[in-house]
Amino acid sequence: MDNLTFGPVVSRRFGVSLGVDLSPHAKQCNFDCLYCELSPAKPVDRAIDVPQANAYLEAIVCALEKYPQADYITLTANGEPTLYPYLEELVVGIKSLHVKQKLLILSNSATLCNANIARILSTIDVVKLSLDAADEKTFKRLDRPFKGLHVKDIIASIEAFSRMYCGTLVLEVLVVKGVNDTEAAFDCLNAAIGRIQPARVDVGTIARPPAYQVEGVDVVTLHALAARITGVPVSVAQNASYAQKHDFDEVGLMALLDKRPQSMDDVKYSFSSRSQILLKGLVSRGKVRMQTVAGMDFYRV
Ligand code: SF4
Repeated sequence: MDNLTFGPVVSRRFGVSLGVDLSPHAKQCNFDCLYCELSPAKPVDRAIDVPQANAYLEAIVCALEKYPQADYITLTANGEPTLYPYLEELVVGIKSLHVKQKLLILSNSATLCNANIARILSTIDVVKLSLDAADEKTFKRLDRPFKGLHVKDIIASIEAFSRMYCGTLVLEVLVVKGVNDTEAAFDCLNAAIGRIQPARVDVGTIARPPAYQVEGVDVVTLHALAARITGVPVSVAQNASYAQKHDFDEVGLMALLDKRPQSMDDVKYSFSSRSQILLKGLVSRGKVRMQTVAGMDFYRV
């Protein structure tokens, strides 16, 4: 039973999280992403080699007794968690535990076209969906999906999900050098994100050894690309030693926050000391407010 849950894992974006691995024996995924941390594997459209939901519920109860401080129970997998055939039974079972932890699922979005999966996900507190590209060519090259999956259908299903979902929808974009690191790719993504209107977009790059011979981008490029996403809070994976410090006057700062809410890390790593003091003053005068999105605090007007 030991490998059904893992952690708790501490992350900047979701705090303390107890992981639940819905494919503990083998990689079972409908994508075969270039950047995957798991070994390459042919994409599949179902997970067959899986434990029963009851085994997970027992493991979760045990783990929460040991780690009651967790903020989230995170459904993830060595692969795609929505391929788990007993997902509904598991989600209903976790909800019936009435624990204080929020339920989070990390999915690659591809199964949202299935109305039953969309319905199950709509009962989960926080849904984090990957969307690495909005054009078919880049999507196919980067995510290497199971046959018959098309990014325009996936985007349409995320849009439909966003309209009916009452929880917190977070999108994640992972940037790979030479694949989806162009302004054109991000402008295309931004158009899709504008229609989806997620609560937050997380932008990151390769941080661990990938399945294939690909590389991440540097933090300056990551910030420049993330800046092309407008109108929603964006969280960029930071590296304190590389980020540039920016100095703002009040007009410049208000214009920035109007266009792009800034996370606490954005402020810590990329604002000059003078700008940080100016921001505090704007908060105390009520000109800037704080908004919490899926555990992350943002400054916005
Ligand atoms: S969706 Fe996730 S698990 Fe599946 S191949 Fe891509 S990175 Fe790996």
